Amino acid sequence: IGRINSLKSVKKKRPEVIIALTGCLVDSRTEELERRFPWIDLFFPPQELGPLHAWATARGIPLPAEPVSLPSSQPSLTAMIPIIQGCNSFCSYCIVAYRRGREKSRQPDEILCHVQNLIKHGSKEITLLGQNIGAYGRDLPEKTDLARLLALLQEVDGLQRIRFLTNHPKDMDRSLMEAIAHLDKVCEHVSLPVQAGDDRILAQMRRGYTARQYLNTIEEMRSVIPNLSISTDVIVGFPGETDEQFAGTVRVLEQVRFDRVHVAAYSPRPGTLATRKYADDVPPETKQARLQQVEALHERIAAEINAPLLGTTVQVLVEGRHKGKWSGRTRTDKLVFFTHRDDLTGQLVDVKVEKTTAWALQGTCQR
Ligand code: SF4
Repeated sequence: IGRINSLKSVKKKRPEVIIALTGCLVDSRTEELERRFPWIDLFFPPQELGPLHAWATARGIPLPAEPVSLPSSQPSLTAMIPIIQGCNSFCSYCIVAYRRGREKSRQPDEILCHVQNLIKHGSKEITLLGQNIGAYGRDLPEKTDLARLLALLQEVDGLQRIRFLTNHPKDMDRSLMEAIAHLDKVCEHVSLPVQAGDDRILAQMRRGYTARQYLNTIEEMRSVIPNLSISTDVIVGFPGETDEQFAGTVRVLEQVRFDRVHVAAYSPRPGTLATRKYADDVPPETKQARLQQVEALHERIAAEINAPLLGTTVQVLVEGRHKGKWSGRTRTDKLVFFTHRDDLTGQLVDVKVEKTTAWALQGTCQR
């Protein structure tokens, strides 16, 4: 939403720019979105290109008659590549399975070609995307999996780093953990949404695991992958969530000590099971208080995790300049700011860490 709002000033300055929005936020009923975001020219649901075609045809802009795969990533230093669309999980609060349909993977050779092309145009790091990326390959006639795809992409010349998002805990299996541990281009950072730490809430969310099973997966990942950083997503204020059930979530956060936590207050999504079945009965002020509690806890833990990095040297892929400093990320997805007289964009550099906070590291480039 913030990104959409930020495009308002773009449209104001350059009215000729056409802004189109697609994704899970958009379904075929766009009236409310049109009212809310009048600076967006066109809305179309994911994988439904009819409105785009109609819009282009009305303006005499030629488009192929058949729906095409829209280019999902521009060549850039760090590129995002969708490899699987949709989801078979039907978590009770989530609209993805309804809007995006069942899991549909791209062929490995098509992805390989896409990656090679991006590298040719200057990309150094790729992030493979999927709502449930661990399900990759299961639906293909010739079954494969994410671990095998990572091994295939590891061989691409010029590619330096591979990341992937987002994992469902039930699909984080041993072969994937071993691929992360052994393939040197695959970064040791995993996003593994926990959503809640109470078994009853997890069952109502239809997540398919208990808190204990989630913790066991984390333990196994940490035993297989050295120096692993883990991020997670949490929902607070799911219908009926008591103080005690919320305390279960806090306990999981304290136990795992995530490198990053994305927290959201529950809000009902029309059409989902949770909206039909459960009243949104946690008061907004309780949701807000829980959200702030999670954020404060995470800030303390992230600061404690980053503090020992002081004085160490970290490898950074330089992405650009921000507020007078160069910035980039470590393999563990930590944001790093550093000073250097030259433009090192696109290079892997060593940075000596001189300051740490919960959110970023700062230092000096060792060149
Ligand atoms: Fe939605 Fe993720 Fe659950 Fe799929 S696994 S239904 S995308 S929350």
